[in-house]
Amino acid sequence: MVALPSQLRVFVRDWLSGNNILLRGEHANVLIDTGYAKHVPLTLALVASRAGLDGGLLSLVVNTHCHSDHMGGNAALQRAYGCRIAVPAGEAVLVDAWDTHALLIDEAGQRAERFAVDERLQAGTTADWGGLAWQLLAAPGHDMGALVFYEPHHRILVSGDALWQDGFGFVMPREMDPAALPATRATLDMIAALDVAVVVPGHGEPFADCAGALERAYRRLSTLEADSQRGARHAAKVLLMFNLLDRERIAVATLPSHVARTRLLREFDERYFHFGPDAYAAWLVEGLCASGAAAVVDDHLVPRPRPA
Ligand SMILES: [Zn+2]
Repeated sequence: MVALPSQLRVFVRDWLSGNNILLRGEHANVLIDTGYAKHVPLTLALVASRAGLDGGLLSLVVNTHCHSDHMGGNAALQRAYGCRIAVPAGEAVLVDAWDTHALLIDEAGQRAERFAVDERLQAGTTADWGGLAWQLLAAPGHDMGALVFYEPHHRILVSGDALWQDGFGFVMPREMDPAALPATRATLDMIAALDVAVVVPGHGEPFADCAGALERAYRRLSTLEADSQRGARHAAKVLLMFNLLDRERIAVATLPSHVARTRLLREFDERYFHFGPDAYAAWLVEGLCASGAAAVVDDHLVPRPRPA
C-alpha cells in the first residue's frame, strides 16, 4: 500500500473504466477521470460514497485524456452535480466537434455520451485541486493530447494511460501515426526526469516503484519501435477485448462482421495482417483465449475474470 495525502482518494476500477481520483478540497472537490459509459451508475455511487464526496458537492471534472474509458461519466456527473468539465486543450477541439473518429469512439466500437467542455487545461500551467498544487504536463503518445498531473510536494504523479505499473495504453504503429512512438519516448523521458514517490495510474493500483515501471515501459516501447506488426497485433487484441468487456459476450459467428464493421480493427487488418474478416476473427479469438483473457462458452466469446 502506498501512502497518499488524505484529501486524495483513488477508486481503482478495471480495464473498461479508468480509475477515478477524487481530490477533496476545503472549498472545492475535483474528480479526475470518470470511467466508461456502461459503468456510470457505479461511478456515481463511488463518487457519492462516504469515501468519496460523502454529501459534499463536486465543482470540477478533469480528464487526463478523452478516451471513452476516462470521460464516459463526464456528462452524467455534470447532470448530477452541475460541475464544470476541464479537458486538455489538445482534446477540447475534438470534444467540441464530437469527432468520434479522432476520439476513437465508434471508430473502435465504443460508446460515450457527448459533453461540453467548460475549461481547457494548458500544459505548463499549475492547478490547485484539493489544496495541492498540480503541474499540468504534456504527455503525448498513447493519446496525443494527453496530460499528466504532478504534485511536487508529495511527489505524486497522476499518469493516466501514459505510464502504468506494467506498460502504457496502446500506441498507434508508426504507419498510422508517425508522431505517436517518438512522443511516447519523449513522455517517458519527461516522467523519468521527475522526482516521483507515488504513481496513480489510469488503470491498476497506485504504486511506488516509478523507476521499475519506466524500465518496463521503455522495454515495451523498444519492441514497438522495432516491430509495427507487433504493435498492431497487440492493439487489435486490446480493442476487441475492450468491445468484449463492454458487450459482455459476443457470438463467435458475428465476429467476422464485427471486425469488418469496426473501422480501427479493420484498418489494422488491411494494413498489417491481410487476414480477411473470417481468418482475422478466428486469429483474435485464438489469441485472446490463449492469453487467458477470454474463453468461448456456448459459441460466444466471453471475458475471463483475471486471476486475483
Ligand atoms: Zn486511454
